[in-house]
Amino acid sequence: MLPSLRSLSSLALLLGMALALGLDAQTLPPGESAFSPQLLERSDVDRALEWIEENFENQVAEWILINEIPAPSGLEEARGRYVAEQMEAEGLEVSVDGIGNVVGLRQGVADGPTLVFAAHLDTVHPIDTDVAVERDGEVLRAPGIFDNSASVANMLAMIRALERTGLQTAGDLIFIGTAQEEVGLRGMIHWLEENEGVADMLIAMDGGLGRIPYGALGIYWSWFHFLGEGSHTNTSAGRPNPARALSDAIASIYELEIPEDRGGAVYNVGMLRGGSVFNAIPERASFSVDLRSVNPVLLDSLQAEIQDRVAQAADGHGVRWEMEEENRMPAGGTAEDLADRRQHPLILTAEDVYGFLDLPNEPVASGSTDANAGVVRGIPSISVGRSEGGDQHTLSEWAHWPSALPATRAVLLLALSLSGVADSPQP
Ligand SMILES: [Zn+2]
Repeated sequence: MLPSLRSLSSLALLLGMALALGLDAQTLPPGESAFSPQLLERSDVDRALEWIEENFENQVAEWILINEIPAPSGLEEARGRYVAEQMEAEGLEVSVDGIGNVVGLRQGVADGPTLVFAAHLDTVHPIDTDVAVERDGEVLRAPGIFDNSASVANMLAMIRALERTGLQTAGDLIFIGTAQEEVGLRGMIHWLEENEGVADMLIAMDGGLGRIPYGALGIYWSWFHFLGEGSHTNTSAGRPNPARALSDAIASIYELEIPEDRGGAVYNVGMLRGGSVFNAIPERASFSVDLRSVNPVLLDSLQAEIQDRVAQAADGHGVRWEMEEENRMPAGGTAEDLADRRQHPLILTAEDVYGFLDLPNEPVASGSTDANAGVVRGIPSISVGRSEGGDQHTLSEWAHWPSALPATRAVLLLALSLSGVADSPQP
């Protein structure tokens, strides 16, 4: 059967679109940046960048509004509902998954990679924290204002800039307000496990403006408990004492030799617990270890060495010991391990876009954001900054609001460069 004129013309349109994009598959040329300053010569792209600037006062107001919806990890529902409503109002296909991630799909119009943008909804601050925002010149002050309500507002502004100016991308864009990032990237991991193979690239919107992390810092949190029978001080001489085992163990751990090459490692004993009275051997004494490295082999070998030293200290004092795993965030590899990844178009494009906008743009083979969950699953992933700011995870958290403007423009350019802008007809 002959194709109708109508389908012929739409075929021609599609072909033309693919040609205009210069993309014939879902892959970007390896070793090349997908950004070109010529992108800004397009009037629609220019309009979208203008739109972000013209709307910026509203963006800051919305940033404040988002921050004032309390959202501790696991209790992100109200903030998530607000984000879902905004995405729906812009015409995205919105869903909320089992863990509370708010997912907005903006379909592409041709072949192109699927880009996932993730801004975590949750904060470390308990539900009764005063999250009212104080505006002080160019600074906003409130718990959570920097980490991460800034990114949530940037993401919504980016979605609106695309929608209001009718820009179409080749590949799909998926915007996720993620849940429970602060307690082990749980929302992001949940989404990646339920949507295997969907994301070609992952961009976590998190962190200050600065470097561009494309790796994953492995983080192991462990509690070590020493357990004994206890005894009154008067009968304590020569009896097994968990406190003595703990002290030997900590002293021994701090004699570990940490190589400076192979990605290095850092660790810290941050909490001590045990005992309740002066006049008895404690039945239990515990300490915590926070061990970090980008090198998975080094991370595991140091963890094993720490456990050996704990076991030796316990044996030496005739007490039992137990380990409790509080957190295990896998490591993404050293800069050498990630040498190929460093040349991926995602990283090269981000480097170019941020440099073009005069923002700091040094890629680093580390990271501690939702992007980690992508890195360790082999998905090219980076995190990008939301604004300048500081004191995150404290009550004196602050953010410099004017810097969210270039940060928002940067994510828009990143999306357009990597996904490809389509010359699609507007209704
Ligand atoms: Zn964060």
